[in-house]
Amino acid sequence: MNDPDAWFPDRFDDHGADESHRAEAPQVQRIETQRVQRQIRRATSLCGSCFFKVNCAINALEAGDEYGIHAGVLIEPTPARLRKSRARLAEVIATEVIDSGRAPHRLAVLVEDRPDMETLIADAGSRVRAEREKARPASRTRRSA
Ligand code: SF4
Repeated sequence: MNDPDAWFPDRFDDHGADESHRAEAPQVQRIETQRVQRQIRRATSLCGSCFFKVNCAINALEAGDEYGIHAGVLIEPTPARLRKSRARLAEVIATEVIDSGRAPHRLAVLVEDRPDMETLIADAGSRVRAEREKARPASRTRRSA
């Protein structure tokens, strides 16, 4: 996919915001929503194997991005969704720190400039560890019981 706009999809709830969309038949709106969903899936899946993914997450948090797809995370602008999107960006970074055993230099710079980010990343790290713990095979628990 070589269309940069794919990383900045139309938001579903924008449809209907203007008169031209409001007049569209439901089928047309459904087709458009499906097109946007496909676009989001393709873009986020390409992020999955992107070499710059972690730096991309750091950039998005640093810049306070409120729109678009960054590091495989669709950033949504309502306050609650934005909080979730930022938590997911932090999880991308925390996963890298846990897996590699070291913090990227850019993360150290970010945390130095923005102390609030330290808590965000630490909380994300706790969630990533808890998720992995939950995903461990139950056989280990049975054997130790
Ligand atoms: S991780 Fe960032 S730089 Fe890489 S494809 Fe996704 S949006 Fe682009």
